[in-house]
Amino acid sequence: MLEAKLLPMASKKNKAPAIGIDLGTTYSCVAVWQKNHVNIIANDQGNRLTPSCVAFSEDGRLIGDAANNQTNMNPTNTVFAVKRLMGRRFSETSVQNDIKHWPFKVVAGPMDRPKIIVNYRGVEKEFYAEEISSMILVKMKEIAETNLECTVKNAVITVPAYFNDSQRQATKNAGAIAGLNVMRIMDEPTAAAIAYGFDKITENTDGKKLLIFDLGGGTFDVSLLSVRPGNFVVRATAGDTHLGGEDFDDRLVDYCVEEIKTRYNKDITQNAKSLRRLRTACERAKRSLSFSLRATIELDYDGLDFSTQISRTRFEELNIDLFKRCTDLIEKCLSDAKIDKTEVDAVVLVGGSARIPKVQELVQDFFEGKELCKGINLDEAVAYGAAIQAASLNAQHDKRLKNLVLVNVTPLPLGFEVIGDRTEIAVPRNTPIPIKMHSVGTTYYDNQTSVIIPIYEGERAETKYNNMLGEFTLEGIDPAPKGDAKIDIVFDIDADGILTVSAQDRKNGHRNKIVVTKQGLTTEEIQKMAEDAAHYKAEDEEYKARVSLEDFADKVKAMAKNPALSAEEKKSMEAAAENVILWLKTNQHVEINEIKIRENQLETILHRLMKLKRGGIPYDHVLVLSREPK
Ligand code: AMP
Repeated sequence: MLEAKLLPMASKKNKAPAIGIDLGTTYSCVAVWQKNHVNIIANDQGNRLTPSCVAFSEDGRLIGDAANNQTNMNPTNTVFAVKRLMGRRFSETSVQNDIKHWPFKVVAGPMDRPKIIVNYRGVEKEFYAEEISSMILVKMKEIAETNLECTVKNAVITVPAYFNDSQRQATKNAGAIAGLNVMRIMDEPTAAAIAYGFDKITENTDGKKLLIFDLGGGTFDVSLLSVRPGNFVVRATAGDTHLGGEDFDDRLVDYCVEEIKTRYNKDITQNAKSLRRLRTACERAKRSLSFSLRATIELDYDGLDFSTQISRTRFEELNIDLFKRCTDLIEKCLSDAKIDKTEVDAVVLVGGSARIPKVQELVQDFFEGKELCKGINLDEAVAYGAAIQAASLNAQHDKRLKNLVLVNVTPLPLGFEVIGDRTEIAVPRNTPIPIKMHSVGTTYYDNQTSVIIPIYEGERAETKYNNMLGEFTLEGIDPAPKGDAKIDIVFDIDADGILTVSAQDRKNGHRNKIVVTKQGLTTEEIQKMAEDAAHYKAEDEEYKARVSLEDFADKVKAMAKNPALSAEEKKSMEAAAENVILWLKTNQHVEINEIKIRENQLETILHRLMKLKRGGIPYDHVLVLSREPK
């Protein structure tokens, strides 16, 4: 019983703008629809991409560029690539492999959920991946708010198309912890397809078949879409949620680690700071190898001046199996979509790692020399498309937005366990969503009054090889001979790709259901984390206010040396500044209001003295002394 519906994307009315956030493994990007076009919003450093990086230190918490810039000094408390932990279990092989390459600590938490351990202001703190992601989302929200000069609540957040149910749920939870109303979890290649086709595919263009090749920092997705004006239908998707730039960096790092071992008999992996610096050098070399044939990796380590030249060919050899995996997945996607490669109208490259020449060469060879579309911005396309969908869901007035229709598919088959430890597929992979699909089950023995329904996700017939998403029990079945009862099982997947399964005894109507969140967080946990997030934000603000007041007091002290002031004036200015510095030292935790009061008091004293001296002190000088803008 297939009821796939094409939902028009515009829904409720809301004046405040809604943003699109590309929450990437290495970088994130935020965009908004404004005045009939998409605006990619730059952060406080003027950068359109913000590192997905959070650092903890004695002084406080840093997010984005500020965190990234101090990585080499504080590697064990600088968390990056956390998207690779989202919705995963600690014992998963991919998590175990990643941890080996990371200088920060990850341990097993309750229910095998990974927990990140850092030292924050001298205290050991633990965070789930969702909490770290929520901090990045708060940063992206703030970047948008500063630019738009209003509060932002509604957002579309993108995920790799190949993210499974737990990974999608974890992303949605991160949004909730960040205080966002997540209007939609959107697939990254679909967002890129909108970025490519929204303006290009017009009333005068025939339908097109687009292949989106999205190779980012941590994940690879390939999607085949049929596109008509305003209408984007995903036909099939394939990918690997653990394949991207981070893996190519790992290979280079491993190569250098071995070279250092051979040359100097030293194991750099034992030194977190040096390992982090080596990783940064390798990533830089990787980028330059996209434009040059050779790159140099240099590192001061343990009194050694390590330097090695790496050629593009060597880099390609180190990664060729990973690059080839990308073309294998293109093949799988096309075969699922039942489309021959010659029928593809445009191959669109997205993601920073799609810049690698060998990757481009392999894709072009696969399509028998077809020109690849590199016209859209590789790094910003996903946020661009997400902003269009956000505006459409936010019912912003634009005809093109109102008429936008988008149909996604489920990346993996979903099913339930039946006798013999087998997975009965209820929803095949690449089924259009949102959808409700119906199966019928029955009892195994006479007079059985309850059944357990375990839910699985994955391609394999035997349940042990698939990913168990959760299970629930249906009780109150009327006693009857085995096989008589009819239990209706409904798999309901919403537009975010999130699954609810329900079961009902057809005879007596008894019903039970589960929203699949096995590895996810409970509502109470999300609530608690949202409160913690607000607390950390308040701490950050207090810290910023303290630094600003301290800085102000230092400036006042410097000003007191001005020869144009009388001895008495100098003394009173110096005393006022010293008082403030002493107050800050003796009061480690104070309300932000109290800091503001002290700041205003100091400002009043300063202004009084400045006014007296307006004739004696150049006005410019006075301006230098005023507080820095917030
Ligand atoms: P994204 O997730 O799309 O922002 O992609 C980020 C990834 O792209 C990171 O792993 C970067 O190291 C990688 N990247 C960015 N520029 C280049 C380049 N010129 N050559 C190779 N990889 C790159």
